[in-house]
Amino acid sequence: MANTSCETNNSNDRLTDLPDNRIITVQGLRKKYASEPYSGISKANLFIEKGKIVAIVGESGSGKSTLLKLIYGLISPDEGRIYFRNEPIMPPEKKLIPGHDSMKMVTQDFSLNIYAKAYDNVASMLSNTNLKLKSEKTIKTLNLLGIGHLAERRVIDLSGGEQQRVAIAKAIITEPEVLLMDEPFSQVDTLLKSQLRADIRRLAYELGITIILVSHDPVDGLSLADELIILKRGEVVETGTPKQLYNQPKNIYTARLLADCNVLSSQDAHKLGINTKSSSVAIYLDQVQLKPGERSITFTLCDAFFKGICEELLLEKEGVKLRALNFDMGFYKIGELIPVSIESFKEFN
Ligand code: ADP
Ligand code: MG
Repeated sequence: MANTSCETNNSNDRLTDLPDNRIITVQGLRKKYASEPYSGISKANLFIEKGKIVAIVGESGSGKSTLLKLIYGLISPDEGRIYFRNEPIMPPEKKLIPGHDSMKMVTQDFSLNIYAKAYDNVASMLSNTNLKLKSEKTIKTLNLLGIGHLAERRVIDLSGGEQQRVAIAKAIITEPEVLLMDEPFSQVDTLLKSQLRADIRRLAYELGITIILVSHDPVDGLSLADELIILKRGEVVETGTPKQLYNQPKNIYTARLLADCNVLSSQDAHKLGINTKSSSVAIYLDQVQLKPGERSITFTLCDAFFKGICEELLLEKEGVKLRALNFDMGFYKIGELIPVSIESFKEFN
Protein backbone atom coordinates (compact mmCIF):
# COMPACT_ATOMS: atom_id res chain seq x y z
CA MET A 1 0.00 0.00 0.00
CA ALA A 2 2.88 2.39 0.60
CA ASN A 3 4.59 1.90 -2.73
CA THR A 4 3.31 4.41 -5.24
CA SER A 5 6.26 4.33 -7.58
CA CYS A 6 4.47 2.60 -10.47
CA GLU A 7 2.71 5.70 -11.77
CA THR A 8 3.98 8.65 -13.69
CA ASN A 9 2.36 12.01 -14.19
CA ASN A 10 1.64 13.12 -17.71
CA SER A 11 1.17 16.67 -18.84
CA ASN A 12 -2.53 16.71 -17.82
CA ASP A 13 -1.63 16.02 -14.22
CA ARG A 14 -3.39 12.71 -14.38
CA LEU A 15 -2.00 9.43 -13.22
CA THR A 16 -1.22 6.91 -15.89
CA ASP A 17 -0.89 3.12 -15.71
CA LEU A 18 -3.22 3.00 -12.75
CA PRO A 19 -4.34 -0.47 -11.63
CA ASP A 20 -8.13 -0.92 -11.96
CA ASN A 21 -8.69 -1.49 -8.27
CA ARG A 22 -6.86 1.66 -7.13
CA ILE A 23 -9.17 4.43 -5.90
CA ILE A 24 -6.99 6.82 -3.87
CA THR A 25 -3.33 7.65 -4.39
CA VAL A 26 -1.39 9.96 -2.09
CA GLN A 27 2.05 11.14 -3.19
CA GLY A 28 4.56 13.17 -1.20
CA LEU A 29 1.85 14.78 0.87
CA ARG A 30 2.74 17.53 3.32
CA LYS A 31 0.54 19.88 5.29
CA LYS A 32 2.00 21.97 8.07
CA TYR A 33 0.06 24.07 10.54
CA ALA A 34 1.97 27.09 11.77
CA SER A 35 1.10 26.36 15.40
CA GLU A 36 3.33 23.46 16.41
CA PRO A 37 6.55 21.80 15.25
CA TYR A 38 4.96 18.38 14.77
CA SER A 39 1.58 19.20 13.34
CA GLY A 40 -0.36 18.18 10.29
CA ILE A 41 1.15 15.71 7.83
CA SER A 42 4.88 15.76 7.20
CA LYS A 43 5.27 12.83 4.84
CA ALA A 44 2.65 10.57 3.33
CA ASN A 45 2.82 8.20 0.39
CA LEU A 46 0.12 5.58 0.09
CA PHE A 47 -2.64 4.15 -2.00
CA ILE A 48 -6.02 2.69 -1.22
CA GLU A 49 -7.79 -0.05 -3.13
CA LYS A 50 -11.45 0.04 -4.07
CA GLY A 51 -13.86 -1.69 -1.69
CA LYS A 52 -11.37 -1.95 1.15
CA ILE A 53 -11.85 -0.82 4.73
CA VAL A 54 -8.80 1.18 5.67
CA ALA A 55 -8.13 2.45 9.18
CA ILE A 56 -5.80 5.35 9.86
CA VAL A 57 -4.38 4.65 13.30
CA GLY A 58 -2.10 6.76 15.45
CA GLU A 59 -1.84 8.47 18.78
CA SER A 60 -3.74 11.68 19.43
CA GLY A 61 -2.37 14.57 17.37
CA SER A 62 -0.58 12.29 14.89
CA GLY A 63 -2.43 13.84 11.96
CA LYS A 64 -5.24 11.35 11.37
CA SER A 65 -8.03 13.89 10.93
CA THR A 66 -5.73 16.09 8.82
CA LEU A 67 -5.01 13.19 6.45
CA LEU A 68 -8.73 12.43 6.16
CA LYS A 69 -9.54 16.08 5.38
CA LEU A 70 -6.76 16.24 2.80
CA ILE A 71 -8.04 13.10 1.05
CA TYR A 72 -11.57 14.51 0.97
CA GLY A 73 -10.35 17.86 -0.34
CA LEU A 74 -11.46 19.93 2.67
CA ILE A 75 -7.99 21.38 3.15
CA SER A 76 -5.22 21.90 0.62
CA PRO A 77 -1.77 20.38 0.96
CA ASP A 78 1.44 22.44 1.08
CA GLU A 79 3.12 19.86 -1.10
CA GLY A 80 2.28 16.62 -2.83
CA ARG A 81 -0.75 15.28 -4.61
CA ILE A 82 -3.84 13.25 -3.95
CA TYR A 83 -5.73 11.47 -6.68
CA PHE A 84 -9.18 9.98 -6.91
CA ARG A 85 -8.60 7.24 -9.47
CA ASN A 86 -6.36 9.11 -11.90
CA GLU A 87 -7.76 12.61 -11.35
CA PRO A 88 -6.15 15.04 -8.91
CA ILE A 89 -8.39 16.03 -6.02
CA MET A 90 -9.32 19.70 -6.17
CA PRO A 91 -8.35 21.81 -3.17
CA PRO A 92 -11.20 23.71 -1.43
CA GLU A 93 -10.31 27.06 -3.01
CA LYS A 94 -11.01 25.59 -6.45
CA LYS A 95 -14.45 24.23 -5.56
CA LEU A 96 -17.80 25.85 -4.86
CA ILE A 97 -18.55 23.24 -2.20
CA PRO A 98 -15.36 21.76 -0.74
CA GLY A 99 -15.13 17.97 -0.76
CA HIS A 100 -14.93 15.45 -3.58
CA ASP A 101 -18.23 14.64 -5.31
CA SER A 102 -17.71 10.86 -5.18
CA MET A 103 -16.85 10.87 -1.49
CA LYS A 104 -18.72 11.65 1.70
CA MET A 105 -17.34 12.33 5.13
CA VAL A 106 -18.89 11.64 8.53
CA THR A 107 -17.28 13.96 11.01
CA GLN A 108 -17.09 13.55 14.78
CA ASP A 109 -19.80 16.16 15.31
CA PHE A 110 -22.09 14.36 12.78
CA SER A 111 -23.21 17.71 11.24
CA LEU A 112 -26.89 16.82 11.61
CA ASN A 113 -29.86 19.12 12.09
CA ILE A 114 -30.62 18.00 15.62
CA TYR A 115 -34.13 19.50 15.69
CA ALA A 116 -35.19 17.74 12.50
CA LYS A 117 -36.34 14.12 12.31
CA ALA A 118 -33.87 11.38 11.43
CA TYR A 119 -35.84 10.78 8.23
CA ASP A 120 -35.62 14.42 7.13
CA ASN A 121 -31.91 14.63 7.85
CA VAL A 122 -31.27 11.71 5.53
CA ALA A 123 -33.88 12.59 2.89
CA SER A 124 -32.54 16.15 2.61
CA MET A 125 -29.60 14.80 0.61
CA LEU A 126 -31.86 13.81 -2.30
CA SER A 127 -33.59 16.09 -4.80
CA ASN A 128 -37.37 16.43 -5.00
CA THR A 129 -37.62 15.40 -8.64
CA ASN A 130 -39.05 11.99 -7.74
CA LEU A 131 -40.69 12.09 -4.32
CA LYS A 132 -41.68 8.41 -4.32
CA LEU A 133 -38.14 7.34 -5.07
CA LYS A 134 -36.81 9.78 -2.49
CA SER A 135 -39.02 8.29 0.21
CA GLU A 136 -38.26 4.68 -0.77
CA LYS A 137 -34.55 5.29 -0.82
CA THR A 138 -34.55 7.11 2.51
CA ILE A 139 -36.46 4.30 4.23
CA LYS A 140 -34.21 1.68 2.62
CA THR A 141 -31.08 3.47 3.82
CA LEU A 142 -32.42 3.94 7.35
CA ASN A 143 -33.27 0.23 7.42
CA LEU A 144 -29.82 -0.66 6.16
CA LEU A 145 -28.40 1.05 9.23
CA GLY A 146 -30.99 -0.58 11.51
CA ILE A 147 -32.72 2.70 12.40
CA GLY A 148 -35.87 2.48 10.28
CA HIS A 149 -37.99 2.49 13.45
CA LEU A 150 -36.41 5.81 14.51
CA ALA A 151 -37.27 7.64 11.28
CA GLU A 152 -39.81 9.96 12.92
CA ARG A 153 -37.67 10.75 15.97
CA ARG A 154 -35.85 14.06 16.22
CA VAL A 155 -32.09 13.65 16.18
CA ILE A 156 -31.80 15.43 19.52
CA ASP A 157 -33.90 12.63 21.06
CA LEU A 158 -31.56 9.88 19.83
CA SER A 159 -28.55 8.35 21.59
CA GLY A 160 -25.02 9.05 20.39
CA GLY A 161 -24.85 5.67 18.66
CA GLU A 162 -28.18 6.24 16.91
CA GLN A 163 -27.09 9.71 15.79
CA GLN A 164 -23.94 8.12 14.41
CA ARG A 165 -26.10 5.81 12.29
CA VAL A 166 -28.22 8.74 11.03
CA ALA A 167 -24.99 10.51 10.04
CA ILE A 168 -23.78 7.40 8.17
CA ALA A 169 -27.19 6.98 6.48
CA LYS A 170 -27.05 10.63 5.40
CA ALA A 171 -23.58 10.10 3.99
CA ILE A 172 -24.29 6.93 2.02
CA ILE A 173 -27.73 7.75 0.60
CA THR A 174 -26.15 9.53 -2.35
CA GLU A 175 -24.12 6.38 -3.05
CA PRO A 176 -20.61 7.77 -2.66
CA GLU A 177 -17.74 5.58 -3.78
CA VAL A 178 -15.68 6.46 -0.72
CA LEU A 179 -16.95 6.99 2.81
CA LEU A 180 -14.62 8.79 5.18
CA MET A 181 -15.30 8.47 8.90
CA ASP A 182 -13.56 10.39 11.65
CA GLU A 183 -13.68 8.44 14.93
CA PRO A 184 -16.92 6.56 14.16
CA PHE A 185 -16.80 4.71 17.47
CA SER A 186 -16.21 7.67 19.76
CA GLN A 187 -19.89 8.06 20.69
CA VAL A 188 -20.67 4.38 20.87
CA ASP A 189 -20.48 2.27 24.02
CA THR A 190 -18.78 -1.12 24.06
CA LEU A 191 -21.99 -3.10 23.61
CA LEU A 192 -23.00 -1.25 20.47
CA LYS A 193 -19.48 -1.05 19.10
CA SER A 194 -19.42 -4.60 17.76
CA GLN A 195 -22.81 -4.05 16.09
CA LEU A 196 -21.65 -0.84 14.42
CA ARG A 197 -18.44 -2.57 13.39
CA ALA A 198 -20.45 -5.35 11.74
CA ASP A 199 -22.65 -2.77 10.00
CA ILE A 200 -19.68 -0.85 8.65
CA ARG A 201 -18.22 -4.07 7.29
CA ARG A 202 -21.54 -4.93 5.67
CA LEU A 203 -21.68 -1.50 4.00
CA ALA A 204 -18.27 -2.04 2.49
CA TYR A 205 -18.94 -5.54 1.27
CA GLU A 206 -22.59 -5.23 0.19
CA LEU A 207 -22.45 -1.77 -1.34
CA GLY A 208 -18.84 -1.96 -2.49
CA ILE A 209 -18.04 1.35 -0.75
CA THR A 210 -14.42 2.03 0.08
CA ILE A 211 -14.25 3.07 3.73
CA ILE A 212 -11.45 5.12 5.21
CA LEU A 213 -11.83 5.56 8.93
CA VAL A 214 -9.84 7.18 11.65
CA SER A 215 -9.55 5.76 15.12
CA HIS A 216 -7.53 6.68 18.14
CA ASP A 217 -8.29 3.20 19.49
CA PRO A 218 -6.16 0.75 17.49
CA VAL A 219 -8.37 -2.17 18.50
CA ASP A 220 -11.11 -0.74 16.25
CA GLY A 221 -8.71 -0.75 13.34
CA LEU A 222 -7.36 -4.21 14.09
CA SER A 223 -10.74 -5.86 14.20
CA LEU A 224 -12.44 -4.03 11.37
CA ALA A 225 -9.99 -2.94 8.72
CA ASP A 226 -8.51 -4.77 5.76
CA GLU A 227 -5.54 -2.40 5.82
CA LEU A 228 -4.02 -0.14 8.43
CA ILE A 229 -2.13 3.11 7.94
CA ILE A 230 0.04 3.87 10.95
CA LEU A 231 0.62 7.58 11.53
CA LYS A 232 3.24 9.02 13.86
CA ARG A 233 3.77 12.75 14.17
CA GLY A 234 2.35 13.31 10.72
CA GLU A 235 4.37 10.59 9.05
CA VAL A 236 3.11 7.32 7.60
CA VAL A 237 5.45 4.92 9.34
CA GLU A 238 3.91 1.67 8.14
CA THR A 239 1.01 0.23 6.19
CA GLY A 240 -0.25 -3.34 5.97
CA THR A 241 -2.94 -5.76 7.03
CA PRO A 242 -3.83 -5.86 10.73
CA LYS A 243 -2.25 -9.33 11.00
CA GLN A 244 0.98 -8.28 9.31
CA LEU A 245 1.41 -5.19 11.43
CA TYR A 246 0.47 -6.95 14.66
CA ASN A 247 2.72 -9.95 14.08
CA GLN A 248 5.64 -8.28 12.28
CA PRO A 249 5.68 -4.57 13.10
CA LYS A 250 8.66 -2.73 11.65
CA ASN A 251 8.49 0.01 14.26
CA ILE A 252 8.24 -0.16 18.00
CA TYR A 253 5.64 2.61 17.73
CA THR A 254 3.42 0.22 15.76
CA ALA A 255 3.95 -2.61 18.25
CA ARG A 256 3.10 -0.32 21.16
CA LEU A 257 0.04 1.00 19.38
CA LEU A 258 -1.43 -2.32 18.26
CA ALA A 259 -0.38 -4.74 20.96
CA ASP A 260 -0.37 -4.75 24.72
CA CYS A 261 3.35 -5.21 25.22
CA ASN A 262 6.30 -4.81 27.53
CA VAL A 263 8.99 -2.60 26.03
CA LEU A 264 12.48 -3.10 27.43
CA SER A 265 15.77 -1.36 26.74
CA SER A 266 18.56 -3.67 25.56
CA GLN A 267 20.16 -3.26 29.00
CA ASP A 268 17.02 -4.50 30.78
CA ALA A 269 16.54 -7.25 28.21
CA HIS A 270 20.06 -8.54 28.94
CA LYS A 271 19.20 -8.71 32.64
CA LEU A 272 16.42 -11.13 31.70
CA GLY A 273 18.81 -13.25 29.67
CA ILE A 274 17.53 -11.95 26.33
CA ASN A 275 20.49 -11.81 24.05
CA THR A 276 19.90 -8.90 21.72
CA LYS A 277 21.94 -6.40 19.74
CA SER A 278 18.95 -4.14 19.08
CA SER A 279 18.22 -1.05 21.14
CA SER A 280 14.85 -2.19 22.42
CA VAL A 281 12.74 -5.27 22.71
CA ALA A 282 8.96 -5.71 22.78
CA ILE A 283 7.42 -8.67 24.58
CA TYR A 284 3.69 -9.12 23.92
CA LEU A 285 1.75 -9.96 27.04
CA ASP A 286 0.57 -13.30 25.66
CA GLN A 287 4.21 -14.28 25.23
CA VAL A 288 4.91 -14.04 28.96
CA GLN A 289 4.04 -17.46 30.36
CA LEU A 290 3.77 -18.07 34.08
CA LYS A 291 5.48 -21.43 34.13
CA PRO A 292 8.89 -22.94 34.72
CA GLY A 293 10.82 -23.82 31.60
CA GLU A 294 14.30 -24.38 30.27
CA ARG A 295 15.14 -20.67 30.43
CA SER A 296 12.60 -19.43 32.93
CA ILE A 297 13.42 -16.57 35.25
CA THR A 298 12.10 -16.01 38.75
CA PHE A 299 10.23 -12.73 39.22
CA THR A 300 8.65 -11.21 42.31
CA LEU A 301 4.98 -10.33 42.11
CA CYS A 302 4.61 -6.61 42.94
CA ASP A 303 0.94 -6.06 42.16
CA ALA A 304 -2.11 -7.58 40.48
CA PHE A 305 -4.88 -5.72 38.63
CA PHE A 306 -8.31 -7.21 38.03
CA LYS A 307 -9.19 -7.13 34.31
CA GLY A 308 -12.38 -9.15 34.17
CA ILE A 309 -11.49 -12.40 32.40
CA CYS A 310 -7.96 -12.32 33.79
CA GLU A 311 -5.66 -10.30 35.99
CA GLU A 312 -2.62 -8.36 34.96
CA LEU A 313 0.42 -9.06 37.09
CA LEU A 314 3.19 -6.56 37.62
CA LEU A 315 6.41 -8.53 38.07
CA GLU A 316 9.91 -7.41 38.93
CA LYS A 317 13.43 -8.76 38.69
CA GLU A 318 16.55 -6.71 39.41
CA GLY A 319 14.63 -3.50 38.82
CA VAL A 320 13.19 -4.71 35.51
CA LYS A 321 9.39 -4.52 35.45
CA LEU A 322 7.36 -6.96 33.37
CA ARG A 323 3.62 -7.24 32.91
CA ALA A 324 1.94 -10.63 32.42
CA LEU A 325 -1.61 -11.99 32.19
CA ASN A 326 -2.85 -14.54 34.70
CA PHE A 327 -6.08 -16.40 33.94
CA ASP A 328 -5.96 -18.36 37.19
CA MET A 329 -7.14 -15.38 39.21
CA GLY A 330 -6.00 -14.99 42.79
CA PHE A 331 -3.58 -17.91 42.45
CA TYR A 332 -0.52 -15.80 43.29
CA LYS A 333 0.04 -13.61 46.35
CA ILE A 334 1.85 -10.25 46.34
CA GLY A 335 5.52 -10.82 47.14
CA GLU A 336 5.46 -14.39 45.83
CA LEU A 337 8.25 -15.65 43.57
CA ILE A 338 6.95 -16.76 40.19
CA PRO A 339 8.79 -18.62 37.40
CA VAL A 340 8.32 -16.81 34.09
CA SER A 341 9.09 -18.05 30.58
CA ILE A 342 9.37 -15.50 27.78
CA GLU A 343 8.24 -17.38 24.70
CA SER A 344 9.20 -14.81 22.08
CA PHE A 345 10.13 -11.17 21.65
CA LYS A 346 10.50 -8.62 18.88
CA GLU A 347 13.62 -6.52 18.33
CA PHE A 348 13.68 -2.86 17.24
CA ASN A 349 16.36 -0.30 16.54
P1 ADP B 1 -5.44 13.54 15.17
O1 ADP B 1 -6.70 13.50 14.40
O2 ADP B 1 -4.51 12.40 14.88
O3 ADP B 1 -5.66 13.68 16.65
P2 ADP B 1 -5.06 16.11 13.85
O4 ADP B 1 -4.93 15.81 12.42
O5 ADP B 1 -6.36 16.66 14.31
O6 ADP B 1 -4.62 14.83 14.72
O7 ADP B 1 -3.94 17.16 14.27
C1 ADP B 1 -2.58 16.92 14.08
C2 ADP B 1 -1.80 18.07 14.65
O8 ADP B 1 -2.07 19.25 13.94
C3 ADP B 1 -2.12 18.36 16.10
O9 ADP B 1 -0.93 18.75 16.74
C4 ADP B 1 -3.11 19.51 16.01
O10 ADP B 1 -3.04 20.33 17.15
C5 ADP B 1 -2.62 20.26 14.78
N1 ADP B 1 -3.74 20.88 14.07
C6 ADP B 1 -4.82 20.25 13.55
N2 ADP B 1 -5.64 21.13 12.94
C7 ADP B 1 -5.08 22.35 13.10
C8 ADP B 1 -5.44 23.68 12.69
N3 ADP B 1 -6.54 23.90 11.97
N4 ADP B 1 -4.60 24.68 13.03
C9 ADP B 1 -3.47 24.46 13.72
N5 ADP B 1 -3.06 23.23 14.13
C10 ADP B 1 -3.85 22.19 13.83
MG1 MG C 1 -8.70 13.56 15.02
